[in-house]
Amino acid sequence: NTLINLQHLTKRFSRSGNEVTAVDGVDLNIREGEIYGIIGYSGAGKSTLIRMLNGLEQPTSGSVTVNGLEMSSISGAELRKARQKVSMIFQHFNLLWSRTVEENISLPLEIAGADKAARAERVRELVRLVGLEGREKAYPSELSGGQKQRVGIARALANEPRVLLCDEATSALDPETTDSILDLLTSINRRLGLTIVLITHEMHVIRKICHRVAVMEAGKVVEEGDVLQVFKSPEQPITKRFVSQVTEPGDARQAISQLGEAYPDGTLIRLGFVGDRAEQPVLAKLIRSFDINVNILQGNIAQTHGGAFGSLVLQLSGDGNAVREAIAFLHAEGVETEVIAHD
Ligand code: ADP
Repeated sequence: NTLINLQHLTKRFSRSGNEVTAVDGVDLNIREGEIYGIIGYSGAGKSTLIRMLNGLEQPTSGSVTVNGLEMSSISGAELRKARQKVSMIFQHFNLLWSRTVEENISLPLEIAGADKAARAERVRELVRLVGLEGREKAYPSELSGGQKQRVGIARALANEPRVLLCDEATSALDPETTDSILDLLTSINRRLGLTIVLITHEMHVIRKICHRVAVMEAGKVVEEGDVLQVFKSPEQPITKRFVSQVTEPGDARQAISQLGEAYPDGTLIRLGFVGDRAEQPVLAKLIRSFDINVNILQGNIAQTHGGAFGSLVLQLSGDGNAVREAIAFLHAEGVETEVIAHD
């Protein structure tokens, strides 16, 4: 049965005199208890769409109905209550840095007016659910990226929502941590029967945990269906491209190589690491995946609980295309990459 129903949902923004149609006449049904993925490239309208699911953004036209309530027809206390039932986690976690793990998780309970004893009990449960026992008193700056997202998940679940929205929730994490967070989301979906709606630009996220998927392009849903079915016989060109991200690594690399300029043999780059990313997995992948030699000329990295801080200067040698692909890969991994010198 349908938990979320979108009808002809449209959102336009006007920006310096121009109209942008971010979401363009979307019809969707999301069922209770499923994990529903929305995939699209940057600018496709994914964030705008999920922001309309919790009333953060008002539709220009069309409707969003969650659990029988039409979001734009309610206001005040009723809207606040409805919003509590649709919570959200974010790419950059959005934790309060001045609060400990348990204080972050407790925040929505405080806002909802729960008393101290009830809050403490609920926080204990949530800490256990997301596997953060022993880290209750830590501050976000002392946590790894994966642990920060666990806090985000616990906080989002504090008021027992009907729906959890995930806005690129694993895009800032390395592949291993991504897998562990996706496993956690799957187990929460199973154990609590929680409906999860996630947006991503990465097909492996869809393949790993979603039951159904919608593909968005230029504000429209261009293809929709069962994940297995979509993988077996993608119809639209854009869907084929997403599917090839995970089935044909060569294609993904070709797509990456179309980004960026040509950088010749011997290019020097500086990589900046701040916070969540550890440099080892990124370097390992860089060396493994591209036909280049990586020479570390200068390294100044401190490892802390929060991740890696500092910079590395690398010399990349090899065919110009391979060097360019490697640089595009580093960009895509979210590592700050500065080209210092090339011939
Ligand atoms: P995605 O999440 O798929 O990257 P978005 O929903 O962020 O896509 O954006 C879709 C389109 O709407 C883009 O062209 C973006 O520039 C535009 N857009 C999003 N939010 C706003 C805003 N607040 N004001 C103006 N334009 C916006």
